[in-house]
Amino acid sequence: MSAGNVPDCGAPCQEALAQLERYLDGELPDTTLEQIKTHLVACYPCTDRASFEEQLRAIVRRDCVDAPPPSLLVRIREHLATVDDER
Ligand SMILES: [Zn+2]
Repeated sequence: MSAGNVPDCGAPCQEALAQLERYLDGELPDTTLEQIKTHLVACYPCTDRASFEEQLRAIVRRDCVDAPPPSLLVRIREHLATVDDER
C-alpha cells in the first residue's frame, strides 16, 4: 500500500477509508455519508478501493455464510489438539 501524496478532496482519504465498511453497510449517519460520497466522487483511489471492497463483500456474501460451518470448527479444534499433543 502506498502512502504519500493524496489528493486534497474534502474528507481525508484516511477518514473515508475508515468509514468505508460502515458506508458499504449503509450504517453511516447522513452527514458522514454525504462527506464520504463527496470524497469518493473526487478521489479516484478511494472510489477504486470502495468498489473493490464492495465486490469482495458480494463474493463473501455469495460464497460464505456468516459463521464457519461447525464441521470446520471441529476440524480446527482437532488440529489444535494434535499440535498440543506433539509439544
Ligand atoms: Zn481518497
